[in-house]
Amino acid sequence: MQQGDAMSPSEGFGKRPGIKRVGLMGGTFDPIHYGHLVTAEVARAKFRLDLVIFVPAGIPPHKRGVRISSRTDRYMMTVMATLTNPYFEVSRTELDRPGPSYAIDTVRHLKKEFDEETEIFFITGADAAIEILTWKDAKDLLKECGFIVATRPGCSTGELERRLMEARLHSTHCICMVEVPALAISSTDIRRRVEQGEPIRYLLPMNVENYVYKTGLYQKKCNNDKK
Ligand code: ATP
Ligand code: MG
Repeated sequence: MQQGDAMSPSEGFGKRPGIKRVGLMGGTFDPIHYGHLVTAEVARAKFRLDLVIFVPAGIPPHKRGVRISSRTDRYMMTVMATLTNPYFEVSRTELDRPGPSYAIDTVRHLKKEFDEETEIFFITGADAAIEILTWKDAKDLLKECGFIVATRPGCSTGELERRLMEARLHSTHCICMVEVPALAISSTDIRRRVEQGEPIRYLLPMNVENYVYKTGLYQKKCNNDKK
């Protein structure tokens, strides 16, 4: 598979004149960091997205039982991080929806806000994409939207391709790869660094860093309310 090419050549990725393209960047964003922002921006430029909507998860289904920061804190950090990019927006849809935050519900809900013709792409890192088939109503989700999967330079997409082939989804759905600069940044590592008093500067936007320290997030006693 070529970087930036569709797994499904018949679907094509040439942008049609007058048809809007929207990217959805889902995540826990606890905290949001430059890995997320660079991925969204690279996807936006490469696939000529008109808009990227960041969707912080309310209750991430794959992180049940894991401590996460409050909805308010994660929403605030996501808004602060995306403020300066005119193509970026933040949706509260998963934060305001009770129950686990399933991508299929989010895509169907957000689709209603656009013309029927608008093309929707879910943007995800390769680590999350490998699990796509375990997501709720995965096959329906793959019919509802395309997927832009961020890979690191040199990262193999073999495992993802193998799983899609097995599920006979390889040739019928829009899943394309985009290479992002090798960013080994993760929210887990940032939380650990704060807890251990290590620097986090340059891993995330400065205003988000300030928010983390001002609110005391990720200090030994984790903020875990249900706001
Ligand atoms: P955690 O370590 O808490 O799991 P995370 O850094 O993986 O956090 P998430 O909020 O879980 O961030 O991820 C949201 C999306 O961003 C996922 O699709 C994930 O694959 C992607 N992503 C996370 N970090 C990076 C990165 N450094 N480069 C590219 N994509 C990333
Ligand atoms: Mg993650």
